[in-house]
Parts: sequence; C-alpha cells; structure tokens
Amino acid sequence: MAKIQMKTPLVEMDGDEMTRILWKIIKEELLVPFIDLKTEYYDLGLKHRDETDDQVTVDSANATKKYGVAVKCATITPNAARVKEYNLKQMWKSPNGTIRAILDGTVFRAPIVVKGIEPTVRTWKKPITIARHAYGDVYRAVEMKIPGPGKTELVYTAENGEVSRETIHVFDGPGIIQGQHNISASIESFARSCFTYALETKQDLWFSTKDTISKKYDHTFKDIFQEIFDKEYREKFDKAGIEYFYTLIDDAVARVIRSEGGFIWACKNYDGDVMSDMIATAFGSLAMMTSVLVSPAGIYEYEAAHGTVQRHYYKYLKGEPTSTNSVATIFAWTGALRKRGELDSIPELMDFADKLEKAVIDTIESGTMTGDLALITTMENPNKVGSEEFIKAVRARLEQELA
Ligand code: NAP
Ligand code: MG
Repeated sequence: MAKIQMKTPLVEMDGDEMTRILWKIIKEELLVPFIDLKTEYYDLGLKHRDETDDQVTVDSANATKKYGVAVKCATITPNAARVKEYNLKQMWKSPNGTIRAILDGTVFRAPIVVKGIEPTVRTWKKPITIARHAYGDVYRAVEMKIPGPGKTELVYTAENGEVSRETIHVFDGPGIIQGQHNISASIESFARSCFTYALETKQDLWFSTKDTISKKYDHTFKDIFQEIFDKEYREKFDKAGIEYFYTLIDDAVARVIRSEGGFIWACKNYDGDVMSDMIATAFGSLAMMTSVLVSPAGIYEYEAAHGTVQRHYYKYLKGEPTSTNSVATIFAWTGALRKRGELDSIPELMDFADKLEKAVIDTIESGTMTGDLALITTMENPNKVGSEEFIKAVRARLEQELA
C-alpha cells in the first residue's frame, strides 16, 4: 500500500517521561507505516529545554505560527523537585504557558466518548467542550494581607497623570484584599477563538460569567462577546444553524447537568480551570481528554490534557509492566493530521485520521483497554492490556480498516 503523502510539515513537539515513550511507539506503530510523515521536530524534553535555555520552546511556537499546525507531547513543568532531579540551570516556565503567550490562544478541552465508559451524568450523550480563557483574573492577581484597621483603595493613574480612586473597604480589623485585571484585547481574542471554533466544529457556544454581581469586570466579558458576535459572527452562525447563548454561571451549571452535551462552554480563567476537571472526571477519565490551543489567527496546537504520567514512567524505568492510556495522545496526532489534511486539501490524510480514531474507539468498545479504563468500565471482563499492547491492538484494527 502506498503511503499517504503530506505537503506541509506538522510542528512536532516531543515531551517527557511516559508520554515520550508512548509518543515514539505511536509514531512507529500507527503513523510511519501508513503516512510519509513530514514533521519539523522540536525536542521539548526537559533536558533539551535546559540545554537550549528554553529557546527550543520559543522556536517551536514560532514554527507553529509559520506552519499553522502543531502536535505536542506532555511536558514537565519544573518545580523545585524537578530542578534537583534534572540538575536544571533554572526553574524554566511551563512550556504550555510560553507557547500560549506566543500564539495568544484559547484552550479547548473535549472528552473522547466511548461505549463502556459511561458519564456519571446519565443525560450526557455527546461530549462537552470547555473553552478556558487562559489569561489574567486571579492567575495574575496581586494580593495583600491587611494587618489591621485602615482604608484600602483601587487607584488608576492615567498616562496624563489623571487619577481615579475607588474605596475597596475601610477595615476596622485585619483582613485580605486582591487586585485582579484583564485586558480587552485578550478577551476579544478569546471571543474570536470561541466563535471560530464553534463554527468549525458546528456546535452551539455557551458563555457564562457572574455579570449580575460583577457589573463592570464580568459584564465587560459579556459585552465584548456580544459585540463581536453581532458584528462578525451572527450571520455565519445562522447559516451554520448553530447558536450563541449567554447565561449566568450558576444557570449554566444547572443547564450543563441537565443537557445532552454536544456544545462548547466558554469559561473565564478560573471557571474553566475548575469546570474542565469536573467535566473530565464526570466523563470518565483525564486520560480520555483531548486539548487544542486555537489562536484567533487560526493556528492550532493539539495535545493530550493529562501530564507526563510520572508514576508510570518510574515503573517503566524499573522494567516493570505499565498500562498507560495513549488515547488522548493518539487523538492529538489525529487532530493535527486532520487539520493539516484540511488546510492542504489532502482528503486521504483526513480519512486516515478518522480511521485511526475509529480503530481506537472500536478497540476499547470491543473490550481491550488500559488499566485506568478497565477499572471504571461498565463492561464485564475487560481485557486489560499494557501500554504497547494497546497500541498494537489499535494497529491491527487500523490495518483492517485501511485494507
Ligand atoms: P499526570 O501525568 O496527568 O498523572 C496523574 C495521574 O493520573 C497518574 O499518576 C495516573 O494515575 C493518572 N493518569 C494520567 N494520565 C494517564 C494516562 N494517560 N494513562 C493512565 N493513567 C493516567 O499528572 P502528574 O503526575 O501530576 O504530573 C506529571 C508531570 O506532568 C508534571 O511534571 C507536570 O508538570 C506535567 N504536566 C504536564 C501537562 C502538559 O504538558 N500539558 C499537563 C499536566 C501536567 P495512577 O498513577 O493512579 O495510575
Ligand atoms: Mg486545574
């Protein structure tokens, strides 16, 4: 069988630990035998990030800007323990944070739904995608402990020296304060990324904040979304038969639980952080969650939502058998290949991505799965397999699918 040809390379960002091991097997078993795989390779493994003073991360993000599509393996975000373990020059920043800052994107997370791994919420039939604004609010907040009585204020000094003040609170005893900010341009990018992604995936878009209480801060988010929707997207949404729908966060939570799924839920930074963990867990497993960073300029970076699965990696290093779930990493590749196929008009590549995803889902639905899923499946007597065995089982199905 002739290999599928590619035109433009994918930006390939390799990573760390167990996911780096899976990365290699996925390429060898599921991609290279079938595709004349063109990638521009960047090694974002922690050792190489340290050797290049993290320049490799910046280079990989710039390459993504150039080519338009990247696929990323999970990477270690260093903490004090990692600095020691890898003898690092410094505590390098989170690669995802660096890449996000360069591409200015929004992260969309969606569960992979399979029969036998049933959502905790009985009404959910289709995936719910969370779009999390990845800038500002409490993540960039400045905080102060107030030791005792006194007045606290918000002060804005304009460039021309004009000053406006607002009293936060007059304390008569100890307390705490916090200053949060966001930037209109970032909220606008967030809105455009969400509208674009909704059109592309033909799903309704929900957005929720607490604008009734936060009449300026949250209300600005609501207004910016509405303005951009009315000006740039309303007609396109009508044509596509999809809807943009704004509601209060507490109403949204109630509606999400009663829904059938099948929509995108846009959330402010904190809400998205919390809700994406809830959605992932309620759909079954973090190992079955995909993640894509979409920039307002239409640049895509695909990855798995989980980390490098450190605990399994240490078992692997000791030569012990592992049963690590590779599904989200495989779907990162299929997402990227499909997008590349779409942009370069290579229908065979898009078809290959569909078939590989089908092979993965059929493998699990036939009862063959990794340990994390075997623990939670409603299927009787699942066939629990090892990390590599699972990928080989997928390959066998893929070969049938392609024959
Ligand atoms: P993790 O890698 O997501 O793993 C946490 C636990 O979840 C694992 O120990 C495992 O549970 C389970 N799990 C996650 N993915 C799984 C999979 N594919 N198959 C089977 N089980 C899976 O999180 P972590 O251990 O807290 O973080 C490890 C490293 O990942 C950290 O250095 C962190 O910085 C990095 N990280 C990277 C990203 C990213 O690149 N996007 C995201 C998050 C974390 P059991 O041990 O119970 O089997
Ligand atoms: Mg979180």
